[in-house]
Amino acid sequence: MSEMEPVTYAKGIDIFYSDASGPPVEDSRCLACQSPMKTEQKEASRSMAEAMSGSTTDSYVYFCPHSAKEEHRRLVELYREWEHLVSRRLKAIVTQELMEMRNEFRNSL
Ligand SMILES: [Zn+2]
Repeated sequence: MSEMEPVTYAKGIDIFYSDASGPPVEDSRCLACQSPMKTEQKEASRSMAEAMSGSTTDSYVYFCPHSAKEEHRRLVELYREWEHLVSRRLKAIVTQELMEMRNEFRNSL
């Protein structure tokens, strides 16, 4: 997993975890760019508290293979803004923009 070390992931958007004691999640997709996630099984600290205490859980880690790209970071930021919008009108506008940016990004892959 060394190639993902310098990448900044946004938990719940382009990275998430599930317990390795259960079956892996099928057909997981990145919420920012809609690409299929990569999956690895490993011991992972899943929260800030776990990371600080050095504890880990046997986990499936799902992560977007495009997270390191600058354009992807912008998509994640826009997704975060979209997620928090309360206004329906603003949400409709930003939904449009999010879909356009997503299409441009996917066409550039
Ligand atoms: Zn992605």
